[in-house]
Amino acid sequence: MNTEINKHPHRRYNILTGEWILVSPHRTKRPWQGKTEKNSKEERETYDPSCYLCPGNSRAGGETNPNYEGAHSFENDFPALLTEAPVKDFENGLLKAEAETGICKVVCFSPDHSLTLPLMEVKDITEVVGLWKKEYLDLGNKNNINYVQIFENKGSMMGCSNPHPHGQIWSQKSIPTEILKKSKHFKDYWNENKSSLLGDYLKQELELNERILAQNEHFVALIPYWAVWPYETMIIPRKHYQHIGQLNTAEEKAFAEIIKKLTIKYDNLFETSFPYSSGIHQIPTDGKAYPEWHFHMSFYPPLLRSATVKKFMVGYEMFAGPQRDITAEQAANNLNELSDIHYLKQ
Ligand SMILES: [Zn+2]
Repeated sequence: MNTEINKHPHRRYNILTGEWILVSPHRTKRPWQGKTEKNSKEERETYDPSCYLCPGNSRAGGETNPNYEGAHSFENDFPALLTEAPVKDFENGLLKAEAETGICKVVCFSPDHSLTLPLMEVKDITEVVGLWKKEYLDLGNKNNINYVQIFENKGSMMGCSNPHPHGQIWSQKSIPTEILKKSKHFKDYWNENKSSLLGDYLKQELELNERILAQNEHFVALIPYWAVWPYETMIIPRKHYQHIGQLNTAEEKAFAEIIKKLTIKYDNLFETSFPYSSGIHQIPTDGKAYPEWHFHMSFYPPLLRSATVKKFMVGYEMFAGPQRDITAEQAANNLNELSDIHYLKQ
């Protein structure tokens, strides 16, 4: 393999979206400067009386949370989508709009206000995976729900206002842009090769072993070759599954294990509660078959060099396309050098 290109400015192709990213490795002449700031090991309270997600507390919408003991979901009090759309589609000359409907839910990962995924026990993360699976299937079975997006915004840097461990699920009638892009590339590859694009990519990554971060019997975590964010990662099931509803009990646990392992690495990188947006991309729930699809979970973290230095998507990125300095291989090396034990527990 020609690795000479990795030392000079080049563009890398994202096989899933068909987009390119500019990589400028010559700009990272400075030595690795991780852990420049030590963060205090302050303990958060396990219960916050003012938190609208803690068990037994009342929410802004007037409801009271049950005294839930594990993963718990409920409909968002301030949903971005509503089940009824009293308006019709709109078209006037070059102006075009469509009515959109959907259901938005909140998923509390734990009743313990102080926790995050990397600090939770594998059995409790497995419960979260089980709830994601249940919600994906239940919401997806509804007539007007053709796509279910499971995601988490972690940390105030990602716009998350409440530190209580939780994620969201937005489900809707239409199929969103990112899914349409990936569907096209999965399908083109499937038609030509009759195999999974991501499955074949995974095989190549495992052979090269340059960007692999963690693996177990059922899942692999890696930095994708075309990563945009400095420490962007992806968790891929070894089996060619289209959605999380296909996971069996052992696979749910393996998924939880690799999520824990990956997020511990993240926290250890700058010894901080590492912010990110994560999401699971899987097939639409419109009843059609998508044999070409291979579900995966992606993490997009904004941090670059320390707990406070983030990557900005400005200028060239806004007007031309994404760019990064540190290569995906350097980022993988930095993460692979870290302990598997969370820094708060060392
Ligand atoms: Zn709370």
